[in-house]
Amino acid sequence: MLAGFSTVELTGWGVVTQTPKSVAIDSVDNQVISMLLIELPLIISSMIIVFIVAGLIVKPLQNIAIIAENSIQESEMKELKQLNVFYYEALQIKNALIQSFSFLHNQVSFLKDQSTIDPLTSLTNRRTLDTVLQSWTYQGKEFSVIMIDIDHFKLINDTKGHAIGDEVLKFFSDQMKKVTREEDICCRFGGEEFLILLPETTVKQAYNIAEYFLKILADTESPSGQPLTFSAGIASFPRQAANSKELIEFADKALYAAKRAGRNRIIIANQKNTPLSDFLS
Ligand code: GH3
Ligand code: MG
Ligand code: MG
Repeated sequence: MLAGFSTVELTGWGVVTQTPKSVAIDSVDNQVISMLLIELPLIISSMIIVFIVAGLIVKPLQNIAIIAENSIQESEMKELKQLNVFYYEALQIKNALIQSFSFLHNQVSFLKDQSTIDPLTSLTNRRTLDTVLQSWTYQGKEFSVIMIDIDHFKLINDTKGHAIGDEVLKFFSDQMKKVTREEDICCRFGGEEFLILLPETTVKQAYNIAEYFLKILADTESPSGQPLTFSAGIASFPRQAANSKELIEFADKALYAAKRAGRNRIIIANQKNTPLSDFLS
């Protein structure tokens, strides 16, 4: 039973009321249960809708986060640009990321160029050459090198000035690029010394390329007003040298042999005194 008590002051009565618990509470319980039964499908469907909408909102952010996390390679940038986002905030995040990635890409490629290219001639610099040489010899790749030194370059500086000397170096590098192939690597080795790496090329083929270069220079006026000549030494890996250090050393020796022999010529390194006809046949 549920009981209640009160007094009536006017009459001095005390009044007690009693109701069976089952009558008072059970009906409320039944009402709650029937209300729940009516509401339950609505609650469940509302929750499903909330989950679906939350999923739709989170999905583009998740995709952006995955792409951003993976890397900032050019291919991922394309993926990011193609990513379908349908609401304003995700679109803003996507655009902000695209902008900062583009900025980063530009900076990285600029710095990469700065660190691998000689600023005067735009040829590969010495540091990068060393890395390529290490990698090619490690892989056992067959290649030849042409070590080149411009003849009497100091005379150009002394008679025409350093600025013309620089123009001559640029001109020389441009001509070198023209006579070599796409796969060859032209490098500024030092002041007026250059090295060309020629992959899968025999000494004979390298010799022909160097000879053609001499001919082109002889037929062209350089910024000094005179045609240029050079001396060159050629060596090949692995036929003539066991490692990159030896290869450069042998090509350098051949180059100085060409200088001693009167300049304007090419000499093939010949440490083992192999008959020249063996190389040129
Ligand atoms: P050889 O025929 O024996 O090679 O004589 P050479 O005069 O070419 O050789 P040498 O080594 O005596 O002179 C090279 C000169 O190249 C000396 C140096 O001042 C100059 N040089 C080095 N780097 C640069 C550069 O970046 N610009 C200019 N203009 N000159 C340079
Ligand atoms: Mg020199
Ligand atoms: Mg020189």
